[in-house]
Amino acid sequence: MYANDQTHDYVSVLPRPNVGRGYATHEIENMPSELPEKNLYDDDRILKEAIHRHGAGWADEKLRVCGAVTGSARMRDLARLANENTPVLKTHNRIGQRIDFVEYHPAYHELMEAAWKSEVHSLAWTTNEKRPQVARAALSYMWNQTENGVMCPSTMSYAIVPLLRSDPAAGNPWLDKILARDYDPRPLPGNEKTAITTAMSMTEKQGGSDLRANSSRAVPTGNDREYLLTGHKYFCSAPMGDIVLLTAQTEAGVTLFVAPRTLPDGTRNSIRVQRLKDKVGNRSNASSEIEFDNAIAYRIGEDGHGIRAFIKNMTHYIRMDFAIAAAGMMRQALNLAIHHTSQRKAFGRTIRDLPMMRNTLADLAIEAEAAMLLGLRVAKSVDDAQMSEAEQHLNRILVPIGKYWNCRRVSSVALEALECHGGMGYVEEQPIARLYREAPLNSIWEGTSAVMGLDVMRAMKTDGALDALMNEINEAKGADRHFDAFADGVKADVANCAEMFEPHARRLMSRIAVAVQGSLLIRQSTAEVADAFCASRLGGEWAHEYGTLKFGDAGLKAIVDRAALR
Ligand SMILES: Cc1cc2nc3c(=O)[nH]c(=O)nc-3n(C[C@H](O)[C@H](O)[C@H](O)COP(=O)(O)OP(=O)(O)OC[C@H]3O[C@@H](n4cnc5c(N)ncnc54)[C@H](O)[C@@H]3O)c2cc1C
Repeated sequence: MYANDQTHDYVSVLPRPNVGRGYATHEIENMPSELPEKNLYDDDRILKEAIHRHGAGWADEKLRVCGAVTGSARMRDLARLANENTPVLKTHNRIGQRIDFVEYHPAYHELMEAAWKSEVHSLAWTTNEKRPQVARAALSYMWNQTENGVMCPSTMSYAIVPLLRSDPAAGNPWLDKILARDYDPRPLPGNEKTAITTAMSMTEKQGGSDLRANSSRAVPTGNDREYLLTGHKYFCSAPMGDIVLLTAQTEAGVTLFVAPRTLPDGTRNSIRVQRLKDKVGNRSNASSEIEFDNAIAYRIGEDGHGIRAFIKNMTHYIRMDFAIAAAGMMRQALNLAIHHTSQRKAFGRTIRDLPMMRNTLADLAIEAEAAMLLGLRVAKSVDDAQMSEAEQHLNRILVPIGKYWNCRRVSSVALEALECHGGMGYVEEQPIARLYREAPLNSIWEGTSAVMGLDVMRAMKTDGALDALMNEINEAKGADRHFDAFADGVKADVANCAEMFEPHARRLMSRIAVAVQGSLLIRQSTAEVADAFCASRLGGEWAHEYGTLKFGDAGLKAIVDRAALR
């Protein structure tokens, strides 16, 4: 599907079932088929319309190719294999030397190779076309419907680029290989590889939300920006990254460093992978504890200003990506629920058409579409922040709000979609079960909900920020009475936010998020979707559970039919 594709016959897909001989005990009936192969771009009219609306239609061909890859049965099967055959840590070799090597199943490498070919880690930085962040966000949206584990190194490699560019003297040596498309897992020095990947490790045992508590230490060697690092990190995902971005204390305070996994002479840097975490989900991706013992690292940015540079030039982009990733996961949950209920019958009827299920699916569909529009609006604000001060302000607020809200909502969507599968949904072999376990993660890493609250409070203190936010919301004023009343309420909340302060930050973020979603849906979706969202999420005509829309049956059907992949 990609030019230069190699065929990997070392990973076999599941064989076709033996249906010829039949079964002595029973006929197999009413069991939904495997999800058919779909193009997650071409067959998703809602995504495609949104990409064109944002002026990123130039990326059609890339998105179409990625849509075919991510919607293929092969990628789905590779995702299953990579999650069933989890990474294994080899701390030592046969003769007792330390190698700190994480061995992945070949399926993981094939997924990584396909992801890198799709440019999900790089497109935003390599094209001069309009709205590159929006185009790349669409790639991320599709990949997150297929396999989330490979999206961890992909997001790190994407988001480190602005940080490295902010300090060209230190960053330039790595950039070309980070942006390259030919994934190369070999443990070689960076300059001998076709492409390199990135890991990032900030969290220590004593705290992850407050990085000022870091205890790792860095001492300059006297060679330009070279330091020796000593300490531990309690979380380091994708530890086979060729470079690890990390924080450590110097005499000036917390500072950022890049440590190569392999040194230029081919020997291993003194970074020990102590153990892999046994995680609830995200199992194809290794997450580890690491220690570095006089490891060689190079300072990025100013001495003692690591946290601010990290948040501004890297975390911000990761958080944007998580807003879109969570939306992609909601899309996958919805696709699975619609497919299952369209193929299974109960009480003599197709479950999808049963009135309560129709209401549930419609409710999930409006949630998923609202999440996607919010995620793409966040990406657009990153693009447009270069050109407009108002977008800069909006971007500052919308990134943490988008990350917070979409990452919170995805778990409830996955749970409901799981129940749509009945008992089968709670069995590991169903993709929805893996998604359910994956769903909570994005709200934890890269800043929990409370950390997003602190960030939004800081952003709101910037002159012009509140006006930019209210202007965006008010773009849809006059079209829906529920929306108008809610927008006025948010305006009052925002005006009083200095008094609301910390205890109410999550309430404020939640209300802003749904107000922005309502505004986007009114302007960009169908009347049914916008009406149902505004009445339920903003107008109080909802019982805070999916399937409780107060909406006519024809409208519910129209919402589900529109959301179903072609
Ligand atoms: C699977 C996985 C992979 C990870 N990979 C990485 C990685 O690759 N690199 C990396 O650096 N880290 C990684 N992390 C760590 C992650 O970023 C941290 O767990 C996260 O930032 C929270 O830090 P903590 O665990 O120390 O929680 P704490 O900081 O101890 O927080 C505990 C609770 O207190 C709350 N809290 C904190 N401050 C406030 C406040 N001001 N007001 C109200 N509540 C507050 C938090 O919201 C949270 O609910 C990973 C985590 C997971 C689960």
